[in-house]
Amino acid sequence: MKITIDAYSGFCFGVVYAIEMAESILKKEESLYCLGDIVHNNKEVERLSSLGLKIIDHNDLNDLKDCKVLIRAHGEPPSTYDLALKNNIQLLDASCPVVLKLQHQIKLGYEEIKQIDGQVVIFGKEGHAEVVGLLGQTNNNAIVVASIEDLEKIDFSKSIYIYSQTTKSPQAYKEITLQIEKRAKALNNTGIKYIVNDTLCRQVSNREPQLKQFSNKNDVIIFVSGRKSSNGKMLYQSCKKENSNSYFISDIDELESEWFLGVDSVGICGATSTPRWLMEGIAKAIKRIA
Ligand code: SF4
Repeated sequence: MKITIDAYSGFCFGVVYAIEMAESILKKEESLYCLGDIVHNNKEVERLSSLGLKIIDHNDLNDLKDCKVLIRAHGEPPSTYDLALKNNIQLLDASCPVVLKLQHQIKLGYEEIKQIDGQVVIFGKEGHAEVVGLLGQTNNNAIVVASIEDLEKIDFSKSIYIYSQTTKSPQAYKEITLQIEKRAKALNNTGIKYIVNDTLCRQVSNREPQLKQFSNKNDVIIFVSGRKSSNGKMLYQSCKKENSNSYFISDIDELESEWFLGVDSVGICGATSTPRWLMEGIAKAIKRIA
């Protein structure tokens, strides 16, 4: 049986940057606080925790003073930076440059559209760390939509600037923006502005077509990802659509031997938060099982 690990799967540069920053600090210091899971992968969080990384949440941050805290790739809203300043916390900012650029774009867009009483709409998951950081750029005034049903929140008689969370599916973003455009045009209000901003991260969207090919080339696909990873869920669905013998797992012990009966080829792939060492361990385990 041939087992192939997808060459394009695994950490994106934003995640590599945050993890390398944590590792380099933990070589010199015994421990380091990180605000939220450094990456949406429990196995990698466990590995870094064993080196001294301590995951904290925003409630913990309120109680900390005079220390260092790492900001992960998802970024943070301005309120986190204000709190750090107040509590003399040194922030080690590993926010991904793609997310920082989007935060800046939304901030400028919000400043502009509020002059004409318009709305900023963010296509993303309510409560997701990146979306919280994006919302913060608008004083939490932007409208977050996750589905067509959520479009009820929008006032279509007003101008709209729309942005997407970086890791959403290009197809889903297209569908939601077409719906918004249709509803806005139906009102025939020529005075309104409607601008769709292309803010998807290419590290994720470029993987989708490539993963579809990979899924077709293998009899069975093992998709490895943490269950909290947005792009993990989205990329897995793309694999499943192409190859119905696709299985989502987070760890080796979730493998089932019956998946590999009479199979000639197995492809292992994952999200932008999936460590390569985990995919390699899974490849070895499949060899043993088969
Ligand atoms: S998926 Fe894209 S935006 Fe998100 S951390 Fe990776 S490079 Fe940055």
